[in-house]
Amino acid sequence: MSTAPLKVATVDGLDEISERMNGTKVDFDPGAPPPFNLADIRAAIPKHCWVRDPWKSMSYVARDVAVVFGLAAATAYLNSWLVWPLYWAAQGTMFWALFVLGHDCGHGSFSSNPKLNSVVGHILHSSILVPYHGWRISHRTHHQNHGHVENDESWHPVSFVVIYCFVSLNQDFAVLIPFPMLAYPFYLWSRSPGKTGSHFHPNSDLFVPSEKKDVITSTICWTAMAALLVGLCFLIGPIPMLKLYFIPYWVFVMWLDFVTYLHHHGHEEKLPWYRGKEWSYLRGGLTTLDRDYGWISNIHHDIGTHTKATKPVLGKYYREPKKSGPLPLHLIGNLITSLKKDHYVSDVGDIVYYRTDPKLSGSSILE
Ligand SMILES: [Zn+2]
Repeated sequence: MSTAPLKVATVDGLDEISERMNGTKVDFDPGAPPPFNLADIRAAIPKHCWVRDPWKSMSYVARDVAVVFGLAAATAYLNSWLVWPLYWAAQGTMFWALFVLGHDCGHGSFSSNPKLNSVVGHILHSSILVPYHGWRISHRTHHQNHGHVENDESWHPVSFVVIYCFVSLNQDFAVLIPFPMLAYPFYLWSRSPGKTGSHFHPNSDLFVPSEKKDVITSTICWTAMAALLVGLCFLIGPIPMLKLYFIPYWVFVMWLDFVTYLHHHGHEEKLPWYRGKEWSYLRGGLTTLDRDYGWISNIHHDIGTHTKATKPVLGKYYREPKKSGPLPLHLIGNLITSLKKDHYVSDVGDIVYYRTDPKLSGSSILE
């Protein structure tokens, strides 16, 4: 829809807002500073949400691990082509659930015991080939910079999306062709396009010197898991391992990319990205979206939902998620629409919105 994006770059935010104001809906500007602060939000969260219960957390781990081994054993026993595709979908979703528990260990919300968090986090994340500390640290950087065009880690505009096909569009913009649902292993290895460093390398500029030891520990754990997988390939054969582990692993990667992308993209109304003095932790965080995943919500430990108790404080800054059916199929539509529309942001301006490159919007990659 943007016919002359290069010319309007300097007033990107203003231009977008006035564009939308000519329509019918706009009486709320999502890029305006909110009338509340972080303390107001904190005060609205009920006390019990702050209590960490290691027994409850461990019971989730036990449940998930039992399901993972149960699914694998039952499917290997049946060994039927009717069952394998169901197994891949179910086991990939379970790997994603393990990832979410490891994510909570990384945030310290799993328990208040850092040792327990680290041990459980290493076991969970190594088992699905994630370097625990390496990713934990970069994920913390993501949270500290969410919604910031340049400083956000992982899914952010400009250098956004995947397998490193940079299309340079004039000096002002760079666009990446989306191939996003397989991005995570590449991201772990070498971060987002346009950034340097690796989640495995202690000297990477993702980390400060005091974190080196932690990063090395996690890379060793990752390597041990990789060696175990290679060993199992020799022991039971590469094809059974492909069916039992590697296909579910890719399903997990798709889940991870799908959910994390939709946390920040694909809303019906455009959402702002910030830079410079317009960015704040609060304003960046307010552009995060809740999603309903239907039956999957419980399985993946409600990763799609932030606490509903803050809704009265957030007002219109809270975007009510669309109700899902048993499976969150409606989100696939959101994803495809967003990939077709959200291509780049202006290089100029402290409040910017995604714009569409007409050359990419009909891209065959997305069809
Ligand atoms: Zn997080």
